Amino acid sequence: MLEKKATRSTRVDGVSGEAVIEEFERVTRDAANVQRETLRRILAENGGVEYLRGLGLAGATDPATFRARVPLATHADLEPYIDRIADGDASPVLTAKPATSISLSSGTTQGKRKYLLFNEELVKSTMQIYRISYAFRNREFPVENGKALQFIYSSRETRTKGGLTATTATTNVYRSEEFKATMRDIQSQCCSPDEVIFGPDFAQSLYCHLLAGLLAAGDVQIVSATFAHSVVLAFQTFERAWEDLCADIRRGEVSPSRVTSPAVRRAMAALLAAPNPGLADEVARKCAALSNWYGVIPALWPNARYVYGIMTGSMEHYVKKLRHYAGGLPLVAAEYGASEGWVGANVEPGTPPERATFTVLPDIAYFEFIPLKPVAGDGGYAEAEPVGLTEVAAGELYEVVMTTFAGLYRYRLGDVVKVAGFYNATPKLKFVCRRNLMLSINIDKNSEQDLQLAVDAAARAVLAGEKLEVVDYTSHADVSSDPGHYVVFLELNAADPAAVDGDVMQACCDELDRAFADAGYVGSRKSGAIAPLELRVLQRGTFQKVLRHYLSLGAPVSQFKSPRCVSRSNSGVLQILAGCTVNVFFSSAYD
Ligand code: AMP
Repeated sequence: MLEKKATRSTRVDGVSGEAVIEEFERVTRDAANVQRETLRRILAENGGVEYLRGLGLAGATDPATFRARVPLATHADLEPYIDRIADGDASPVLTAKPATSISLSSGTTQGKRKYLLFNEELVKSTMQIYRISYAFRNREFPVENGKALQFIYSSRETRTKGGLTATTATTNVYRSEEFKATMRDIQSQCCSPDEVIFGPDFAQSLYCHLLAGLLAAGDVQIVSATFAHSVVLAFQTFERAWEDLCADIRRGEVSPSRVTSPAVRRAMAALLAAPNPGLADEVARKCAALSNWYGVIPALWPNARYVYGIMTGSMEHYVKKLRHYAGGLPLVAAEYGASEGWVGANVEPGTPPERATFTVLPDIAYFEFIPLKPVAGDGGYAEAEPVGLTEVAAGELYEVVMTTFAGLYRYRLGDVVKVAGFYNATPKLKFVCRRNLMLSINIDKNSEQDLQLAVDAAARAVLAGEKLEVVDYTSHADVSSDPGHYVVFLELNAADPAAVDGDVMQACCDELDRAFADAGYVGSRKSGAIAPLELRVLQRGTFQKVLRHYLSLGAPVSQFKSPRCVSRSNSGVLQILAGCTVNVFFSSAYD
């Protein structure tokens, strides 16, 4: 439970942080009633929509009738309805009020981008969760009148056949009038002008975020991005670009080869009003004094209080690198949500990201949880009947099911969470993984998390001793020959990855093979039903090429998550990985 801290009450959107926390305390204490009321509000407004009509709710808004009448649904079940809305059907198909736009989920974890409805209710819930998380962060790490170095990027917008805007949920939020009006307090802290956030080219925006951040160095109190990956990418870029950045500051002009967009150049010119050789020298001196860029963030932004962004789930891999750049600065894990809607806030910002939990907001949606029991030796889960928000048990695994104000009814989010405990009467969730299986050849089943654990185990057992780090990784179930086998791709931090000692990489390969410990895999390996694991060592910069490939297909950089398993159908990424392979090893772990 919360420790009371005596800090000044920071105002968020005209409301004091303490008032926000007080309201949060109230709804979390009364979670069961608040959930009933939330479902009542959703159904009072949307009970008559086409999707629900005919299911026999007959005006009922109580949880028992709702659960008895409305089936659990996946995105595939809702897709035909969402497609009709995207194509221009303005009748009440899923929501009484028409959707204001379409959100595109990232699709980088599942390979396919999903369409979802976006409306004002999602803007409101975004404001609500931002306020709560900001209030708790400010209580722990107070910031005042400072600026934020935010590596945020809007995404391309397209129009659906029916004329609705389709873009990422975050861009939909940034664009909304309510967001601009109510969050000016927080937004105005961003060092970069809007032209940079909404700029046409990712690399140019990233460079300008860094430049704007350096110009406001003394004022920066928060360094953040939506995902930890974006902060790591920013500082990897900084390692290569710092001399150009210093030159720009010295000259008082942004480099014409780095930034070509006229609107972005104009906006940056206003910031770079005059040559500043003093600042350029100071930045250069600080960079030169760093050892392997350890602590670059507090060195250059001495008033930064913390680094903030999503650091859990598939982002956990980047925490180590982030910690390196952050030196001793606290890392604060950001909220848990999806394009579908928000789930929970991190209200214990002092907890290290590896142990971060998300407290479910009982008034943000109506939640159910499908109990999951791992099936021994199978890698899958046995399911039981869904339970309500306040009926979950600490220590157990569940799949999240949401009913939202944006047209989702008993929707399976596909995420596996563990209940870590309770905050008042509402659960605190630990994100475990996405539910869909990734690596599977026959009876073996390994999830995104199993792969992460295997890569971590091999890195700890073999690579750490050689001072080698895994920059990024992915995998592929290769069934092009019989028997099939797992392929794991690693990008290492070695200056010349091709020259890394073959014995070390062979040991790493064997360790990876052994680390997939599910009985299906081990049995299949022993019987020869799965061939030896293949380890492919990649050139430096391979995952930047993968990122660029996704961007060229219109994927949003703000949502990018490295694909942890590349399917056969994803030939573009497989070609990049094949072209960037510098060494190949086959496991001898089961010889
Ligand atoms: P998207 O499909 O792009 O909207 O991404 C939503 C998915 O990202 C969620 O369903 C989760 O699997 C993952 N995600 C979002 N927030 C977090 C978080 N804080 N920790 C771990 N995973 C997250």
